[in-house]
Amino acid sequence: MSEAYDVVVIGAGPAGYPAAIRAAQNKLKVACVDEWRNTDGGYAFGGTCLNAGCIPSKALLESSELYERAKEELSHHGLKIGALELDLAQMQKRRASIVKAMTQGITALFKASGVVGLQGHARLLTGNQVLVKSADGGEKTLQAKHVVLASGSTPIRLNAVPHDGTHIIDSWNALELDAVPARLGVIGAGVIGLELGSVWRRLGSEVTVLEALEEFLPTVDQTIAREAQRHFKKQRLDIKLGTKVARASVTDGAVDVVYADAQGEHALKVDKLVVAVGRRPFTEDLLAQGTGVELDARGFIRVDEHCRTTAANVWAIGDVVRGPMLAHKGKEEGIMVAELIAGRYGEVNYKVIPSVIYTAPEIAWVGQTEEQVKASGRAYKVGAFPFAASGRARAMDAAQGMAKIVSAQDDDEILGVHIIGPMAGELISEAVLAMEYSASTEDIQRTIHAHPTLSEAIHEAALAADKRAIDTINR
Ligand SMILES: Cc1cc2nc3c(=O)[nH]c(=O)nc-3n(C[C@H](O)[C@H](O)[C@H](O)COP(=O)(O)OP(=O)(O)OC[C@H]3O[C@@H](n4cnc5c(N)ncnc54)[C@H](O)[C@@H]3O)c2cc1C
Repeated sequence: MSEAYDVVVIGAGPAGYPAAIRAAQNKLKVACVDEWRNTDGGYAFGGTCLNAGCIPSKALLESSELYERAKEELSHHGLKIGALELDLAQMQKRRASIVKAMTQGITALFKASGVVGLQGHARLLTGNQVLVKSADGGEKTLQAKHVVLASGSTPIRLNAVPHDGTHIIDSWNALELDAVPARLGVIGAGVIGLELGSVWRRLGSEVTVLEALEEFLPTVDQTIAREAQRHFKKQRLDIKLGTKVARASVTDGAVDVVYADAQGEHALKVDKLVVAVGRRPFTEDLLAQGTGVELDARGFIRVDEHCRTTAANVWAIGDVVRGPMLAHKGKEEGIMVAELIAGRYGEVNYKVIPSVIYTAPEIAWVGQTEEQVKASGRAYKVGAFPFAASGRARAMDAAQGMAKIVSAQDDDEILGVHIIGPMAGELISEAVLAMEYSASTEDIQRTIHAHPTLSEAIHEAALAADKRAIDTINR
């Protein structure tokens, strides 16, 4: 006997679970199936983001930053504490309890909104049927008017660097280490590599980051990227650009890495090696023969701008489709699809998706970089404000970095905002809202910002774009 639903969502990560909840809010009958299991063997909703990505990484970033600040900054505030001790077991217990509370929260949200949450493997069959296999071997078929594929992504592995989960590890393993490695290698100086490298460096590891590209953070505005590189260097995060890892092997509990740069081959010995070279779309055993759902050359499910796949009434969202692999991008796609299925209006503004790197200082941006605007040929102006001139940032002992606004010379439209500094990930929301409403720098100039706040940096950067900043010298 098959159960009938208006919508079946496969995957309960940050793309799938909001799609399911919004569809239920739209009075549709919804089931959401997920196969995620944590290291204790238990099923959990929330996908990569809640179990092995955004949330546990931010828990450890917060704890490790507190540890470093307590060690290096409290005395500057006139606070003396006795010997500071790291209790990693407690830190990891806290991380795990946050993850548990958040993932259990999704179960509660499903219940409250009437979504049927199912745990097991789901496979799309022809005719919009979904076969669900639960852990106990039980099988059932769901009949769906619409199916939403939200199966997410998985870390890319390198053949020359064979993953063993103990010494050569991925980002999930790196979040659950029970001891601080004396020497940590990270392959990849992207967002995940920098965040994980920061966590373990603060907790005491000597961290070497190997990055194949010559340029540091090439997709980030280069003024911000250069500033970030300077800070990471000062923090003794050893980032080696233009280095290609040739191979790695485990001997006597350590990893021998061989990498090449312009000078030739080099050897590096580390206790743990994290492979953080990116993620690929995950579609293993998701689609039966003949569903009509096509993948592109890179393995992403092919979709149009409204996330319709090549099969009728089958939609795909989140990391498994084109676009930045970010939780909030997947969430908006999920909401859009749930609205469109219900016959309502839905859209994602792909031009205004913020990105954040949760290092210290934080890095956040939205829209075009100065380099992109320059390449487009459009005349532009730039306003920047250093946090060194922010009273609030100084009071917080975090007066590093800057806020920078790039806007059009002709109509003053804001084209991109780039921040490196305290709470950059929170501050960027003002810029996202402004750009969503096609605001001009003048709109921000005329908006009152409370004093003393970090957000005044955005206000002053907007003023600086017209050489009318008050709290910094106009250049
Ligand atoms: C260390 C790390 C830190 C990150 N930090 C951030 C951050 O700070 N901010 C941010 O925006 N993004 C961050 N990301 C990226 C973010 O986690 C992803 O963009 C996001 O999880 C993608 O959401 P999704 O729902 O598309 O996929 P996922 O979260 O991967 O969820 C997909 C779900 O589908 C399930 N599934 C797959 N196939 C099937 C099947 N056949 N049957 C049943 N279930 C299935 C999976 O088990 C999984 O639970 C981070 C990622 C990592 C690894």
